[in-house]
Amino acid sequence: MRIFISCDMEGVTGVAIGKHCNPSESDYQRFRRLMTRDVNAAIEGAASAGATEFLVVDSHGPMTNIVIEDLDPRAELISGSNRHFCQMEGIDTGFDGAFFIGYHAREGGEDGVINHTVMGVAVTELRCNGKVVGETGLNAGLAGAFGVPVALVAGDNVVAAEAREILGNVQTAVVKQAINRHAARLLSVRNAQDTIREQAAEAVYRLKEGAFKAYSVPGPVTFEVVFKTTDAAHMAELFPCNKRIGSKTISITADDYATAFKQLWGTLILGAKTMGGVF
Ligand SMILES: [Zn+2]
Repeated sequence: MRIFISCDMEGVTGVAIGKHCNPSESDYQRFRRLMTRDVNAAIEGAASAGATEFLVVDSHGPMTNIVIEDLDPRAELISGSNRHFCQMEGIDTGFDGAFFIGYHAREGGEDGVINHTVMGVAVTELRCNGKVVGETGLNAGLAGAFGVPVALVAGDNVVAAEAREILGNVQTAVVKQAINRHAARLLSVRNAQDTIREQAAEAVYRLKEGAFKAYSVPGPVTFEVVFKTTDAAHMAELFPCNKRIGSKTISITADDYATAFKQLWGTLILGAKTMGGVF
């Protein structure tokens, strides 16, 4: 059994503020190790239930956070940037299930810890076929396009609720309770990682029973992105396939999810990079 593991950082055990996830801050070195240990806990739990192969995809900021010398040797790691599938690079039809570890809530929902959607500086809201989604929904849709169900989401209580709302009966590992965007009530490292281990094992047992359905979004797929500023939306019009439907809103439509996802990702990169002015 092959498990795809996308790991972000804001929802990692112990993380409460943005500085914990910022490579230019000294505390970051502690939290990248905790991120690696959260992933290891998921692998240990899944392996105890019979999973045998693991692809770990480093999916935060510079995408080089995981400490490979500390990573469970059963896993392979995708590290580094400029990926067409962003936090889901490497997904294919050969995986039996996907885990999202260290995930965070979307912007505009409840008071999740460091809540944002893909690019916090640039994006106010993201909609997929009219439904507001965060990274959990966005990436679950891409897994679903390859027939892969999301079996486990780990992070704070707010992202866990968001995951259940979108995916239904997904397993969740809640490692902290959000107080607000910059504060959390944290489980101890041991208890948090025990929770991840237990939920990962349960996720694999349930995968074997066929308990999870892939989250597939029927085509044509339309993403609408509301940027924080008009200049980003203005420059996103450079792609003729993008339609500007509001002063800050771009609409993107493609026949299938993977194509729409790539078009969205390119649009977000362009929009974010042009805020404040280029050329
Ligand atoms: Zn992140």
